[in-house]
Amino acid sequence: MRRSKLFVKTLKDAPADEVSKNAQLLIRAGFVHKVMAGVYAYTPLGIRVIEKIKQIVREEMDAVGGTELIMTALQRPEIWKETGRWDDRAVDVWFKTALKDGKPLGLAWSHEEAIIEMLKNHITSYKDLPQSMYQFQTKFRNELRSKSGIMRGREFVMKDMYSVHATEEDCDKYYQKVIEAYNRIFDRLGVGDQTFVTFASGGAFTKFSHEFQTICAAGEDTLYVNEDQTVAVNEEVLDDASAELGIDKSSLQPVVSAEVGNIFKFGTEKSEKMNFVYTDKDGAQKPLYLASYGIGVTRIMGVIAEISSDDKGLIWPSNIAPYHIYLVPIGEKGTKVADELYEKLNSEGVEVLYDDRDERPGIKFADAELMGIPYRLVVSDRTLEDDSVELYNRQADKAENVKITELVQKIKTAIA
Ligand code: ATP
Ligand code: MG
Repeated sequence: MRRSKLFVKTLKDAPADEVSKNAQLLIRAGFVHKVMAGVYAYTPLGIRVIEKIKQIVREEMDAVGGTELIMTALQRPEIWKETGRWDDRAVDVWFKTALKDGKPLGLAWSHEEAIIEMLKNHITSYKDLPQSMYQFQTKFRNELRSKSGIMRGREFVMKDMYSVHATEEDCDKYYQKVIEAYNRIFDRLGVGDQTFVTFASGGAFTKFSHEFQTICAAGEDTLYVNEDQTVAVNEEVLDDASAELGIDKSSLQPVVSAEVGNIFKFGTEKSEKMNFVYTDKDGAQKPLYLASYGIGVTRIMGVIAEISSDDKGLIWPSNIAPYHIYLVPIGEKGTKVADELYEKLNSEGVEVLYDDRDERPGIKFADAELMGIPYRLVVSDRTLEDDSVELYNRQADKAENVKITELVQKIKTAIA
């Protein structure tokens, strides 16, 4: 992408009313546009990060047999009434609206009821089981406070998966498989070491759910973690979980974290309420076992912006960076060679943001750092004196001269 074709401008200052670090950085670097508190638009730069996060999640959900679909943002009250979740006292984040004829509608804050309603038409026999399906959807939640930038949106992107089983045992087995898939996702996103599978509040069917919590000073949760970091418990359930696990709660240390994922077993509670049954081998009608698995796609982007940044700006890990290379030409000859390298790198599948604007190099360098592009490539008349270019690694804060003949291979290895 040529910078001259990207409408995005970087800013010296974030809007005065933006208090969160992730949004300040993402706005200044041109990844998001603030519409109002908790409501952010994503620019062509921002959406590339979201799409890369989604792709990692998608690959891991596919690997455990998930199939992708998309539900609707508009929801009929009737199906939510079946489980008592249309009531604002049960769910306090609904955005409610109405059709022209006055018939009420809700904007989806979650999709469990909606998906069950749809599956009732398709899953009717033991032969149809098990199944799991997922989507990436914009969820709407009328959050009371929204001061954490894109970490707490009033509209935000979630991946939600649902699995349907004939037996509790099958559900448990699959649930365990998804925990492993989630661990792979967080490893691939570069936050595996800081992310804990955490005991959290459950529901009517199970005492606990599991949250995936990433250590992050801007998070809104507190975890209690044991010394060898094998047990993590959300503060909300500290007493219950430590008693259940037989551990002394004073041996656990508190850390501030952000909930990046949450998975639940519903047992047969929801299917009983919504009359979601299947016919077993003997012809008997039985309620289905259900589980749901959420990941906050845009929240993770915010968490990574928080924990992977410095005073110069963002520092994206290569696999979710919007581009791998920020290309800066200097001088007439430098520009001619940069043009050629831009074509060459593109054809090799390297994603390049080419700063072809008529601006001083210092301005371009500052943008490369603020945007957090993993590598900056400078082609100048001087580097070309010995047929080289300068490759600067944002994460390591190190520059080296690389011969043009070795450049493509070097970059491909670096971003692999
Ligand atoms: P929280 O406790 O932070 O309000 P939640 O428990 O209500 O979140 P879930 O219903 O479990 O959220 O949603 C699944 C995932 O979606 C969460 O683990 C989180 O990563 C993400 N998420 C939830 N609310 C928001 C939000 N307002 N903005 C961005 N991501 C969110
Ligand atoms: Mg949750």
